[in-house]
Amino acid sequence: MSESVQKQTDLFLSTQELCRHYGRGDSTVRAVDGVDIQITRGEFVAIVGSSGSGKSTLLNLLAGLDQPTSGSITVAGARLASLSSKELSRYRATKVGIVFQSFNLISHYTALQNVELALYFGDTDPTDRRPLSEAILEKLGLEDRMEHIPMDLSGGEQQRVAIARSLVKRPEILLADEPTGNLDQDNSTQIATLLSDLNHDGLTVILVSHDEALARDHAHRMIRMHYGKVSGEETLR
Ligand code: ADP
Ligand code: MG
Repeated sequence: MSESVQKQTDLFLSTQELCRHYGRGDSTVRAVDGVDIQITRGEFVAIVGSSGSGKSTLLNLLAGLDQPTSGSITVAGARLASLSSKELSRYRATKVGIVFQSFNLISHYTALQNVELALYFGDTDPTDRRPLSEAILEKLGLEDRMEHIPMDLSGGEQQRVAIARSLVKRPEILLADEPTGNLDQDNSTQIATLLSDLNHDGLTVILVSHDEALARDHAHRMIRMHYGKVSGEETLR
């Protein structure tokens, strides 16, 4: 197989002239403005750039949570825009895991219940919900925290619960939008290391961060955004 064909096979997610513009009065905010990126299966890519550069907007488009103004997104050979609404829900529910800066856990649910909840809307057999949730929490080192509610967990632990919740449906790609934004240095490093470990196990990871040092320490490749455009790219390892 020629190298280009091989590359084609490994290509998992790509965007073509992707734009998301917001109308604001008479002016237009070009939040994402002609972005072409290619993500290979099994890659760990960091997207960096200052606040307002369009990182979250891009991630939401990749997650299928927002629609482009123009351009397209291709995932595993299929254009997101060509999927039916049922297929798009399925994509969001099974292919992608998403974590945010704010952990978005339900405050009166235990860690275990928060993770289990992710399995209520899908085809998981109800009797499998608990064992699957326990297994992923154990894998993330939270075996002693399953019955804790978020308030009784550290920030780092809460983010690990949120990651467990995003992974329990076994997505192929994890999209993380500033997952360490609310954490101190130690916890940030722990979360980034966890993302690396998950990536080693085969998960494709896109990490949005304004912490370039953290991205540099963990990602394979760094994509820089500036005013909605890709302004640079760097292979790190
Ligand atoms: P980042 O995540 O890099 O900080 P965002 O993607 O959140 O950047 O925002 C990019 C630009 O788009 C900013 O100028 C922001 O104000 C604007 N923007 C984001 N969401 C909206 C929206 N819903 N309506 C209007 N403008 C928006
Ligand atoms: Mg953002």
